[in-house]
Amino acid sequence: MSSPSIVWFRDDLRLADNPALRAAIEHGEPIIALFVLDEESEGLRPLGGAARWWLHHSLASLAERLHDKGATLVLKRGAAAGVLRELVTDAGAGAVFWNRRYGGPERAVDAGIKSALRAEGVTVASFAASLLHEPWTVTTGSGTHYSVFTPFWRACLALPAPRAPLPEPREIPGAPRPPASDALDDWALLPTTPDWAAGLRETWEPGEPAARRRVKEFLENDLPGYDSARDEPSAGATSLLSPHLRWGEISPFTVWHEAVGVDGAGGFLSELGWREFAWHTLYHFPDLAAKNLRPEFDAFPWPPLDPSQLDAWHHGETGVPLVDAGMRELWHTGYMHNRVRMVTASFLIKNLLVDWRLGEEWFWDTLVDADEASNPFNWQWVAGSGADAAPYFRVFNPELQAKKFDPQGVYISRWASKAPTEPIVDLAETRKAALAAYDAVKRAP
Ligand code: FAD
Repeated sequence: MSSPSIVWFRDDLRLADNPALRAAIEHGEPIIALFVLDEESEGLRPLGGAARWWLHHSLASLAERLHDKGATLVLKRGAAAGVLRELVTDAGAGAVFWNRRYGGPERAVDAGIKSALRAEGVTVASFAASLLHEPWTVTTGSGTHYSVFTPFWRACLALPAPRAPLPEPREIPGAPRPPASDALDDWALLPTTPDWAAGLRETWEPGEPAARRRVKEFLENDLPGYDSARDEPSAGATSLLSPHLRWGEISPFTVWHEAVGVDGAGGFLSELGWREFAWHTLYHFPDLAAKNLRPEFDAFPWPPLDPSQLDAWHHGETGVPLVDAGMRELWHTGYMHNRVRMVTASFLIKNLLVDWRLGEEWFWDTLVDADEASNPFNWQWVAGSGADAAPYFRVFNPELQAKKFDPQGVYISRWASKAPTEPIVDLAETRKAALAAYDAVKRAP
């Protein structure tokens, strides 16, 4: 009697460069591929709407690819610890393999499962797959973590080069009688009433094959112009890899090795560095979405919320063209260009004086690339409360930003041609009020 191995897929919905899958194949027993929709374990952040849409399609693609290689994707819903325990017992599994996660609650779940299964004599092995450098391996001279990007990235570049990506397995010996699976449709990850996902369908193709095509196209067509055009929202100059990286449909090792050595790739690779830095920060500060990284910002005197202003921001009705264009792009496509993310976030926090956490939550729900580290990290960066953050007194002027980065108004007219033109607040006055409010932070002990 063979005792199958379980490969537990999480944020790594791919076959290529998947060390957990590779280790399971080398272990030599038949494989059960598992994905758990865990909405019960303590502290895990429920997925936003756009992320659920992406997950549905990415799982459908993964299931098809596993099937082609000889294995079945088993879907289970529930607290991961219970699901794993039951599955190991029912299937008589002898080993469980997974790639690591780095959020605080995820690490607690994984550590608990690892020790419980090991106590039962089950082999458990975990692997590095989602980051180029494990967060605890990048340390300062005095052994602490980094809080400034430039020395962090310099330290990463001084470490041994990221390992080469593993090839996609030719065959995956699936368990002959896989356990019963939930039906993906029963998870109701897709919106129905109303179905707001038409723009997402037009814009994206989730799944590993599309991710691999995207890297190739980006490197061939866009990388040479990346540094000069990456800040222009209408240029289509960036890689659009963020949701693929978020779900691990492509590994950062693959992206790194395909881009490194290409002329002019340094700027692009350092953006991958910001992704690493966001995760490094989350690893050392698991409360990143809830608490100011710099505690003096706890003294910031947020005025009472005006829900109509927040609502205008959500729906791109602020009367500020670049802000409205960005918020409409987000609503329609589940994505917003990085420069415009900074401008819309600054407008919410500094011109509307709305707590950054409310903006973070909206992005969490609407971005297809919403990521537990990058989203709160970048919101805190704009707010001034985060790691290596823009100083609070840097208030983006959305009109100047539009002049500089969308001089012909191409992006604005694409997204906001029908938006109101009377701003809901006076930009100069609200900027002054924000700076006055910031005095409370400066006076904080
Ligand atoms: P490219 O310019 O092609 O960059 C390549 C990759 O580098 C990206 O796919 C991404 O993985 C990474 N990257 C680039 N910039 C950053 C950055 N500033 N921080 C971390 N990683 C970066 N990015 C997310 O992936 N998820 C989020 O939830 C997220 N929320 C954000 C919220 C705000 C307020 C801001 C200002 C930025 C946020 N970003 C987030 C970062 C950035 O806007 C996106 O990663 C980028 O726009 C994705 O487009 P791209 O793949 O074409 O990027």
